[in-house]
Amino acid sequence: MKKPEIKVIRRFACSVLTILLTGVLTMAHAQTPSAVPNRPTAIAIHGGSGTINKGDLSASKEREIRKTLEHAVRAGHAILTSGGSSVEAVTTAITLLENSPHFNAGKGAVFNAEGKNEMDASIMEGAGLNAGSVAAVHNVRNPILLAEKVMTDSIHVMLMGQGAEQFARQQGISFEDDEYFWTEYRWQQFEKARAAGDGDTSYLSETPDQWFSTVGTVALDSQGNLAAGTSTGGMTNKRWGRVGDSPIIGAGTYADNRSCAVSATGHGEYFIRATVARDICARVQYRETSLALAADQVIGGQLAEMGGDGGIIAVDPEGNVVLTFNTPGMYRASIDAEGNVYVAIYNDE
Ligand code: ASP
Repeated sequence: MKKPEIKVIRRFACSVLTILLTGVLTMAHAQTPSAVPNRPTAIAIHGGSGTINKGDLSASKEREIRKTLEHAVRAGHAILTSGGSSVEAVTTAITLLENSPHFNAGKGAVFNAEGKNEMDASIMEGAGLNAGSVAAVHNVRNPILLAEKVMTDSIHVMLMGQGAEQFARQQGISFEDDEYFWTEYRWQQFEKARAAGDGDTSYLSETPDQWFSTVGTVALDSQGNLAAGTSTGGMTNKRWGRVGDSPIIGAGTYADNRSCAVSATGHGEYFIRATVARDICARVQYRETSLALAADQVIGGQLAEMGGDGGIIAVDPEGNVVLTFNTPGMYRASIDAEGNVYVAIYNDE
């Protein structure tokens, strides 16, 4: 064979190899989960549960609340449909709810017995069972972002009070002054609770609608990963230092890819003792109960029997979304695996 012919054959062989390699790489890429178009994604959010009766809210406030819920759920969903992670969807939706004055978290946080806004938050991701939480923090603009930092940038799961605030400053988390967190509506609630109370009984003497409006999000991303997050100001007129279920992993928040992701709202003292979020996931994992039934058994059964009021939002790895509560209402919204958008407040919606 003459030299030019060898060159031609080599060039031909090279082209074939390049085409083959490109094909193999394209196929391999197409099989990575992020590029699989039909993997379900789903998201649900809550803005608290309680005695929310029709007519309690003015028409304009109700409209605004529904708009904020829809905006937050759509923002989280947009992250999921563009291939973002469930953790990112959770922090995005919760940050928007924390920035709204309508919910008991971040800007709209209730006042404790000292007239301070003392906040709790947590986040968990279902792939590696990593979690982060903060309790009794002051002036942190978005406690959910601090909880995320505890999860990603510390060796701990839970930080509280001044230690958590010091960590926040080191991590560049935003702080706001007291005025940012002052809202007329929450102050009125606080005054009412204080006036009605008598020592410790004041902490429990108010109607539930004044306690429960914590925010939370659960999400399933296109990689099949679940995440859950919860953020709250706790209970109006609570004793300072009181910590509810929201920052307690297994009580107010839980996520495990083998079962489900749950975020709770309600009377924290009961949710802690009933380990609500973990109990629902454990029933799904070990008893192979459907998510809807497990949630009913815990919220309508165990929790109600103990005398606890509240609700949960949850999602499983198939994208089934559940919004379950034993109170007259729960601020809630979801976008399921088929893309159906749902926004509701009352229990008959
Ligand atoms: N679960 C929260 C707490 O007890 C209150 C709420 O859901 O609004 O701190």
